[in-house]
This record gives sequence, structure tokens and C-alpha cells, in this order.
Amino acid sequence: MNPALIIILAVLGLFALLLIIAAIRAVLIKAKPADESGAVSCTPEEENKYAETLSAMIRVPTVSVAEGGDKSIFYELHKVLRERFPLIFEKLEVNDLNANLLVRWPGKDSSKDALLLMGHQDVVPAAENNWEHEPFSGDIEGGKIHGRGAMDCKCTVFAEWQAVEELLEEGFTPERDLYLSASTNEEIGGGGVQKSVEFLKDKGIRLAVAMDEGGAIVDGILPGMSTFAAAVGLGEKGTANIKFTAKSAGGHSSTPPRHTPFARIAEFINDVEKHDPFKAKLSPAVEAMFSYIAPYLTFPLRFVLGNMWLFKPLVSLLMPVLAPATRALVKTTYVFTMSEGSKAPNVIPSEATVVANIRPSFHQNLETCFDILKIIAAKYDIEAEIITGKSASAVTDLKSEELAYLGKCVNECLPGCCFAPYVQTGGTDCREMQPVTDNCLRFTPIRMDSQQLAAMHAANENIGVADIAKGVKFYKYWIKNHN
Ligand SMILES: [Zn+2]
Repeated sequence: MNPALIIILAVLGLFALLLIIAAIRAVLIKAKPADESGAVSCTPEEENKYAETLSAMIRVPTVSVAEGGDKSIFYELHKVLRERFPLIFEKLEVNDLNANLLVRWPGKDSSKDALLLMGHQDVVPAAENNWEHEPFSGDIEGGKIHGRGAMDCKCTVFAEWQAVEELLEEGFTPERDLYLSASTNEEIGGGGVQKSVEFLKDKGIRLAVAMDEGGAIVDGILPGMSTFAAAVGLGEKGTANIKFTAKSAGGHSSTPPRHTPFARIAEFINDVEKHDPFKAKLSPAVEAMFSYIAPYLTFPLRFVLGNMWLFKPLVSLLMPVLAPATRALVKTTYVFTMSEGSKAPNVIPSEATVVANIRPSFHQNLETCFDILKIIAAKYDIEAEIITGKSASAVTDLKSEELAYLGKCVNECLPGCCFAPYVQTGGTDCREMQPVTDNCLRFTPIRMDSQQLAAMHAANENIGVADIAKGVKFYKYWIKNHN
């Protein structure tokens, strides 16, 4: 036989063998259907009481206030907290750090690294005009609590505090110190959480883990997903605003020279939009997410994502083009958001500017991203400067004991639920805890469906009554069984 033909047949045979192995693996990893029956159960009385408390918290319109601003609205919320969580205020050390709260619950052994459950008291404004319930009504209707902050993230703060309150009532003492933190300006990056970080640093306190909002129990992470998943954020992308300025001598619009500022800016935008200068890279956390969720996917996706050893190059190729969400997971993204020029229609701008919001990915720090854009801008005689910005956060180790413990709790409380560590494209306060812990986990153990997720920072925000009750039980389980 022709030697070339032998080689071709051998390669084809090997390829067929690999596909057969991949298919067998895909069949074997299929997961059992999930059920919510596990360790978590609540009475209707408890559910009603919880809904009333969260409703009262929503009724205080705590729109973000930066440090230095008037915090009186947050003290209104603290009155609600005092009333609803009396044992926390009576028995624990509640530190008021300019309305940012940091509560310390001493454990049996304070020399061990402490635990921290985080959230934020502030909400974004509710200016949309299509709310079905008044945004700060806290209406309880149809098994849901409605209003701004219901999911982002007063439900998180409520469930954390309610869990601690109940454990105090039961006479429980945690193994190690446990802290609760609730800042006042997460939504505007206003510096509130830093008060808590400084407090912990000053006292030389290390945290075994900081758990904040971010991920949740969500339906359909990917199309073809047969169950809900506990999505746990291990890290978050960076965020930055970069200003690009094109200058000229200005002048009257009746005698324009060539290449006026906006023309150059348009060319620049067109260039970076057409030739995306940022390279895609599949981070280990995203790859791990696929291996965690693959058993819960229907066949074609399970076949591909369950065999990353074979299909990684294909997946890397597809991620940037499949959808904006998959693209954002593997790339630094950028979008031009604001522009300014001359103040009059017949005056050539002496300076025209455009601002881009960029989200640096995990494999490129902010400086690298900035340098790439700066070089392209210079081709069009445009200057670039960073207005505000930070690189991506650290990514919590996939082998972390705290992550494994959280996975165990998910397994116990929500049997069959898919445990899915991932990396976030949006930001939280959690990254600010990096100086005092190696384990930043972003997870609220409350179920959120696609409507609820879409209502974040939009109209008709709501959360399920039964779901927040399960959240309380989850936090209790997590606190009680943590060694
Ligand atoms: Zn939030």
C-alpha cells in the first residue's frame, strides 16, 4: 500500500478513536436530575416573617452615597436592622464605620482566621418609568418581594443577618470569629468597603474566606443546561474609563481644514472596532467551569465541553464569536460611551473627546490594555489618558479548601444542583478584601431566574419569598458546619 495512504488512514483511525473516547466520556458523565428537597426546609410562618423584614429594608431608599456625603438615609435602614435583628445589636460588636457596618461575632477560637459574609446596603436609583410596583414599596405579591434592592443585594444582607440572628437565638457559637460587613456605596465604588478592610488590617485580622454577592443559584447558565446551578464567582474582570482627546486649532466652520478632531476620532473608533486589538484567552477558571457544568448539559454541548482535552482549541476559537457574554469571558472588552466637542454648531472643536469603558481580562493588566489603545490612538494624533481604572482581581484557587467547603454545602442543601465556579464580568466589593484573604468567593445562595437577573439595575426587580427563606437556611448551614 502507498505509504502516504497508510499515514492518512492511521491519522483518520486515531481521530475516530479519540471521538469514540470523547463520546463514551460524554455518556458516562451525565448528571442526575437536581432536586431542592435537601437539608433546607422552611415553614410558611418563617417565610412570611422573612418577607416582611426584607420588605421593610427595601422601603428605605438607600441610594448610594459616597464617603463624605450625607449618610442619614442609611441610619434609617439601621433602625430597621436594629428592630429586626435585636440579638445582633445586643450581643455582638457592631462597628459603625461612617454608616458602613462591620459586625464581629467572637468564635470559640479567635486565633483562627475569621469568616466574613459581605453585602451592600446601597442600591442604584430607580428612575425607570415602567415599574409594575413602586420601586421602594417593598410590595409582597405573587410569592415575591418587589422593589429596588430586592436582589441587588438587600436579599443577601438580609439572609446573612437573619442566619446570624437565628443562630444567636439558638445559643450557637461559631468555631472562629465571624464578621458581617455591609457597605454604603458599592454601586458607585465610593470607598465604603475600604473602611472595613482598614479596620481588619489595623487589628491584624486575616480572613479564611470573604463571601459576597456576585454569583447566585441561577437557571440556564448555558443553553441546553438541564438544571439550575450554583454559580460562584472566583474573580472579577477589571474596569476602567479611558479618555481619548483629539486637538486642533479650532476656528469657524465655514473654512474647515482636513482631518478635524471628530474625523480623526471616527477613524480611530472604526479602526479598533474593525480590528479588535485584544487577544482572547481561555482562563483556567472558565475552563474549570465547563468541566463542572458539562455533566448537566444536553448532548452536543456535553460532548464538546466535557472533553476539553480534545476540544479546547475549538472552544477557544468559538467563545469570542458565539455571543457577547461568551466573548466577555475570554477577552478584554471595550465600548465607547461618551463624547464631547465644540459648544456651538458652527465652531470647529479645539478639542474633541471620546471615553471608552474597558474591562481588562485576567490575562492582561490595565496598563497593557491602555498601552495597546494608546499606540493605535497615536496613529490618528489622538492622546489617551486613564481617568479611573483597575485591573482584573486575583482569581481564587480552584483547589481552595473554602471553595471545596462551599461546594459541599451546595451539595448538602441543594442535592443535584450543579456547582459552577466561574469568573465574573461585573464587579463587587469582594475584591477589596484581597489584602486580608486569599479566598474571595462571590455567591448568594438564593435562586434567581432569568427575569430576575435581567431586572438587576432595571425596572421590576424582585426576589422569591421561598427563595430567600432557603437562602437563610443555607447561610445557617454554612456557618454551623464551618470548622
Ligand atoms: Zn450589588
